[in-house]
Amino acid sequence: MKPMLITIDGPAGAGKTTVSKQVALRLGYTYVDTGALYRGVAFEVKKRLKPSEYDDIFALENLCMQLDFSIKSEQGTMILFSAGVDISGLIRTPEITMLASSISAKPVVREFLLKMQQELGEKKAVVFEGRDMGTVVFPDADVKFFLDADYKVRAKRRYLEICDKTCQSLKEVEDDMLKRDLNDKTRKLSPLKPAEDAIIIDSTSYDLCEVVDMMLKKIKGAQADAKRNSFNFYVKKLI
Ligand code: C5P
Repeated sequence: MKPMLITIDGPAGAGKTTVSKQVALRLGYTYVDTGALYRGVAFEVKKRLKPSEYDDIFALENLCMQLDFSIKSEQGTMILFSAGVDISGLIRTPEITMLASSISAKPVVREFLLKMQQELGEKKAVVFEGRDMGTVVFPDADVKFFLDADYKVRAKRRYLEICDKTCQSLKEVEDDMLKRDLNDKTRKLSPLKPAEDAIIIDSTSYDLCEVVDMMLKKIKGAQADAKRNSFNFYVKKLI
C-alpha cells in the first residue's frame, strides 16, 4: 500500500493527540505533534530572550535561525530535542502554553516551522497533528481531518490530562483554552479552520476510540480509491 500523509487539525482539547497517536500506531506511521514544535520555540524564547523582546521580529528571527530542533518517534509518542537535549517534559507548563499561542501568530516563527514540517512530511507515512496542517502546510495531504468538540468537553479533557502536573483549576484551564482558541482562529496567518476538503468530526459525544475507528475507516477507503484509480490509469494506458 502506498504510504499516505494524514493531517489532523482542530482546537485544543478536541482529542487530537490521543487520536493522532493511535491512528499513527495502527497504520505503522510516524506521529508528528506540531504543537510541540511551537511549544519548543516558546520554550527557547523564554530561555533566551527578555520579555521586552518577545514581540521583536528581529530578535525572534535571530533566535529561529539558531534553533536546532530534531524529533524522535518512540512507541507512538514524539520526543522533541533542542540542540540534542530532550525538552519534551518542559514544554507543557501553562506559561509555555500561552507563550506558544502568542508566538505562533508571528510570521517569522511560522515560516521557520513551515519548512521544518514540510521536510518531515517528504517521505509520507506520517500523521501530522496541528492547526494548519491541512490548510497551509500540506494542502495536498492524502486524507485531512478536522476534529472538534464542545468547548466544555474540551476543557474537561484538557484538565484531566494535565491536572496531576499543574495546579490550574478547571475554570482556569477553560479560560486559557478559550483565549488560545480566539488567538488561533483570529490570527492573520494560518488561522485555525477546516480545509475545504477536510472530513469534519465532532467528538463531543464520541469516545475517542470510536473516533480512531471512524478515521481508520476513512483512510482505508481513501487507500482503496487510490489503488482503484491507479489501476484504472494503468488499464487506460494499455488500451
Ligand atoms: O497543540 P498544542 O496545544 O500543543 O499547540 C500549542 C500552540 O501552538 C497552540 O495554541 C497554537 O497556537 C500553536 N499551534 C499552531 N499551529 C500548529 C500547531 C500549534 O499555531 N500547527
